[in-house]
Amino acid sequence: MTTTADLQTVLSRCGIDLPRYSGHDISVHSPIDGAEIARLAALPVAQMPQVIDRATQAFEQWRLVPAPVRGELVRLWGEELRRAKADIGHVISCEVGKIVQEGLGEVQEGVDICEFAVGLSRQLHGKTIVSERPGHRIMEQYHPLGPVAIITAFNFPSAVFAWNAAIALVCGNPVIFKPSEKAALSGLATFKALERAIEQFGNRAPAGLAQIVLGTSDVAEALVDSPQIALVSATGSTPMGRTVGPKLAARFGKRILELGGNNAMVVTPAADLDLAVRAIVFSAVGTAGQRCTTLRRLIVHRDIKQALLDKLLPAYRSLRIGDPLQAGTLVGPLIDKASFDAMQHSIEQAQQQGGQLLAGGQRQLEQSFPHGFYVAPAIVDMPAQTAIVQHETFAPLLYVLSYDELAQAIALNNDVPQGLSSCIFSNDLREVETFLGAAGSDCGMANVNIGPSGAEIGGAFGGEKETGGDRESGSDAWKQYMRRTTNTINYSRELPLAQGIQFE
Ligand code: NAD
Repeated sequence: MTTTADLQTVLSRCGIDLPRYSGHDISVHSPIDGAEIARLAALPVAQMPQVIDRATQAFEQWRLVPAPVRGELVRLWGEELRRAKADIGHVISCEVGKIVQEGLGEVQEGVDICEFAVGLSRQLHGKTIVSERPGHRIMEQYHPLGPVAIITAFNFPSAVFAWNAAIALVCGNPVIFKPSEKAALSGLATFKALERAIEQFGNRAPAGLAQIVLGTSDVAEALVDSPQIALVSATGSTPMGRTVGPKLAARFGKRILELGGNNAMVVTPAADLDLAVRAIVFSAVGTAGQRCTTLRRLIVHRDIKQALLDKLLPAYRSLRIGDPLQAGTLVGPLIDKASFDAMQHSIEQAQQQGGQLLAGGQRQLEQSFPHGFYVAPAIVDMPAQTAIVQHETFAPLLYVLSYDELAQAIALNNDVPQGLSSCIFSNDLREVETFLGAAGSDCGMANVNIGPSGAEIGGAFGGEKETGGDRESGSDAWKQYMRRTTNTINYSRELPLAQGIQFE
């Protein structure tokens, strides 16, 4: 059962004074049993200009605070997240239905990105570049950009805010956070940890440095439309990105779009099948198939397909589906009925398009949880990559496709509109390098002998095509949160022009 009573205690330990946020606009339900766990007020859109003005004013000060000092704030936030890890993890499990391990893992991602950002705060380097002119030097600098809006999806309600905010803050930018209306409490709990860090940091942090706005898409749209918001980082479905992207382009606003995925695994005859099966199970059914990087397409060589299925189907049958708060559960509920219905619809479509249902698909635990939507993870064997396979169904539904030549497998991997994550299972160097090469996987992430999901924060995260084309988190993704200037400095007494142009 949902421990709603526990949740209230945990929320207050997280620093959330629920009555302060109460209202009638957003009804938050626990997917565990469908019970309403909070009713929250949305910020009236009319108040958004004030929120944005506060961030704009905060920017005037924050951009002048030295980056390593800004890093100190993020270090404090990381400590607060570490301290509150169990509580925030619990809120995530109650609100989104993640199993305990995954709720904790999500908060750990926040801790990890804070540590990464602290180191980064001393490494916001530009290059020094040689000049073709005597007595000249060229250098690059990275400067703070301006207020950053962070719009997040329900399925990573804590980590995606942390990924963006930790980097934005060390880069000198105030943040405005619009969490998913389906996961506002997890967003609030993560934000409260930042507020506590800001309190400790004292008056070095300007008012309005970090703000949270609760609401639905209209509140997010006010951020997207405002020319004062220098960067919008929006995570969610491709339809959301299709609306947000052109609006930002029209006002020349910067963007990071992190949208839907349709991730594949290629399993070749040179694969370690036992390893592949473990990876398939984690990446296809973890978070009940509700990760952007969830494995959705298994592209397996025809000669080993039956051997792989012989190992995979028993593993699917032994999955423990149930209350995500119970120890031992591996698959929790879907977020809501609409998600369950969408999965049923996709299975029907797949069958109409020639697919054969090999496992799962049925609703589970309906008697214990009449308002919770648990489902047996499904596997459908497909004769081809039909229309439904091209579509992201945000649920544990795995399509199996067969291939004969590696080139065919790579073509199948790439022949979908999305381009987030992919992987190959093979111990053959030639196959692996071909998959990773220029004519290989076209995704933002291509892995070898690990599944497509469960990325670490150190790498840049994101995908191509309808996934949005942008990157966030580690590596040099920080550059998107800064404005780059190229400075040419003349320390000679002459004024030579570039390209040898004479102008006298
Ligand atoms: P969603 O698109 O319904 O909502 C995401 C966020 O966008 C919410 O905060 C919502 O209020 C806001 N939003 C919706 N319409 C908007 C509009 N017109 N303008 C501005 N904001 C708007 O997505 P969801 O159901 O919460 O999340 C699931 C989707 O997110 C899946 O497609 C998944 O693949 C994707 N996702 C992608 C990544 C990634 O990094 N690529 C990560 C997590 C989730």
